[in-house]
Amino acid sequence: MVAYRHLGSSGLKITEITYGNWLTHGSQVEADTAVDCVHTALDLGITSFDTADVYANTVAEEVLGQALKGQRRESLEIFTKVYWPIGPKGPNDVGLSRKHIMEGIDGSLRRLGMDYVDLYQAHRYDYATPLEETMQAFADVVRAGKALYIGVSEWTAEQIRAGQELATQMGFRLVSNQPQYSALWRIIEDKVVPTSTELGMGQIVWSPMAEGVLSGKYLPGQQPPAGSRATDEKGGREMISRWMRDDVLTAVQRLKPIADDAGLTMPQLAIAWVLQHDFISAALVGASRPEQLVENVKASGVQLGEDVMTAIDQALGDVVERDPALTVSPEQRPA
Ligand code: NDP
Repeated sequence: MVAYRHLGSSGLKITEITYGNWLTHGSQVEADTAVDCVHTALDLGITSFDTADVYANTVAEEVLGQALKGQRRESLEIFTKVYWPIGPKGPNDVGLSRKHIMEGIDGSLRRLGMDYVDLYQAHRYDYATPLEETMQAFADVVRAGKALYIGVSEWTAEQIRAGQELATQMGFRLVSNQPQYSALWRIIEDKVVPTSTELGMGQIVWSPMAEGVLSGKYLPGQQPPAGSRATDEKGGREMISRWMRDDVLTAVQRLKPIADDAGLTMPQLAIAWVLQHDFISAALVGASRPEQLVENVKASGVQLGEDVMTAIDQALGDVVERDPALTVSPEQRPA
């Protein structure tokens, strides 16, 4: 079964492998496959699920809510987010204004078919709203019992510090940050992680397998396998294109013998690598098929020796991105 970790320094426990439904539910995969994936996750011991209002323009929340119907609510940890434009994408259907947060949480709860979410996250930083207004709205969402905890996603160390100071004054805490993090993308290590850790916040990290690239299934100079994200014309192909470079794909192939020696598959090695870091509360994995979850959950509880961690660093070499300046939110609200 999948191990639990605390979400930051909060009392909430979440599964260290959490299932997220970006690009899959309501988009790349049919509804019955989505439901199969959620039920397989539950059978494997995953009880934490991550979604967002913007995924498939709100449909992903509906699919997740349908798939979880009838489950005991107390046995689930549900995370969603607000910020990116949704619905008709009008001037107030975006950002972190009081209006959009208050309407956003009600819409998410309606689509999920739930009375509350466990974690409500600011999907990016909104430069167009005073931070006080955003944090007061989150405080009120918590007091109304609509979200039990509040987190952020892709905020800089400075934004996290300012947000936590206001939250503390208002009587609640930011418990988590949701950044991208994998063996290929380590930009949070220098600044975001030390600040978050000091402030009691855990990292629940996205694309731990670099969208599937660290599974090793994309070979340099060759067509991507049919049905993979790199062939998904509804958005996946565009998102993964940042990784589809021959230098990256060649370096990733050098991980194969390391995984073999450790007795792991490449997807398991990629997720286990993330879970070795004690600032991690969870790796948020995606899956387009139930079999992927069956394979990936076996990374829970795996201990990688220092020699393995060093070998991974050496194999990936300079294709690893570490520049902390790459933690950014849009300067203008997206339309
Ligand atoms: P991953 O890096 O885990 O990539 C998942 C994809 O990799 C799958 O959909 C599948 O794609 C492929 N894959 C998974 N397992 C295997 C396997 N065993 N063998 C081969 N291929 C495999 O994570 P995601 O990029 O999906 O992100 C995970 C979650 O993170 C999201 O669902 C969301 O909750 C969150 N997220 C948050 C963001 C934010 O801004 N806060 C941004 C992005 C994601 P396929 O089969 O189609 O090739």
